[in-house]
Amino acid sequence: MSKIMDGKKVSQDIKEWIIRRTQELKDRAGVVPGLASILVGDDPASEIYVRNKRRACGRCGMLSEEYNLPEETSEQELLSLIERLNSDEKIHGILVQLPLPVHMNPAKVIRTVSPDKDVDGFHPENIGKLFQENPSAISCTPYGIEKILDYHGIEILGKHVVVVGKSNIVGKPAAALMLNRDATVTIAHIETRNLSSITTMADILIVAIGDPQFIKKEMIKDGAVLIDVGINRNESGKIVGDIDFEDVKEKASYITPVPGGVGPMTITMLLWNTLEAAEIFVLGE
Ligand code: NAD
Repeated sequence: MSKIMDGKKVSQDIKEWIIRRTQELKDRAGVVPGLASILVGDDPASEIYVRNKRRACGRCGMLSEEYNLPEETSEQELLSLIERLNSDEKIHGILVQLPLPVHMNPAKVIRTVSPDKDVDGFHPENIGKLFQENPSAISCTPYGIEKILDYHGIEILGKHVVVVGKSNIVGKPAAALMLNRDATVTIAHIETRNLSSITTMADILIVAIGDPQFIKKEMIKDGAVLIDVGINRNESGKIVGDIDFEDVKEKASYITPVPGGVGPMTITMLLWNTLEAAEIFVLGE
């Protein structure tokens, strides 16, 4: 039976540390870390995510500002808001909730956020730094994956890590992070031939594809560590991951559940990045 990696527990421990450091920063420099979240349109899933961020900020003693813009907002209006927040000293992190409406160019929007305030780690400058092993802001979900592995004492160095999914927000930065930790990394994706022959080689398998319960026990090695990033609804409306938990649980050594695994880590690492951005701001003052 595999051990469950409880993301809520890891998250809680990290948040306690964030609360202490946030208070220290207030006492030492009179600075409250501030996060601005921008939501364009009224996607219900994004609204829930932004609300959870606001609550998490409040619990950690951080300032949270929310900008809910109507769907028909022009790209220029959004860019002007970001530029204003770039020069707002109360704000240390800016998050633009994706996806954006189709009339906006997400790459342009992401490039407009100052790299110093890019707490999502999506700006090309921050992605470049990650690949050069000199990261500043690291994308929150991959960063959360690294923290979960470290928390459970799982060695990364020298291990074969297979990442399934090559998105800019999860798959690619997760692969870069694992490479920076001296793992041997393979990235697989929808066009990969004979996927099982690759996933069965993984000591650590990270799956971020958005395909409910796709990974079965025949696709993993005995004793593999499984990180399930997927958040999907199955036919009965239940939230499930990309890995078939019940099918693999006797064969894997460790596994993250869905929900309650990687998910809670994402918001926590967003707060971590906001705190670090505020600390760097104070150092540079
Ligand atoms: P995406 O849709 O941008 O990319 C999916 C990737 O998976 C692509 O590279 C594609 O080639 C690959 N893929 C799809 N089906 C595949 C298959 N059958 N075999 C091999 N490769 C396949 O996805 P994303 O934004 O990275 O999100 C992936 C999943 O992770 C989604 O379920 C999403 O909801 C979830 N997610 C969770 C968190 C979190 O905080 N836990 C954060 C981000 C995304």
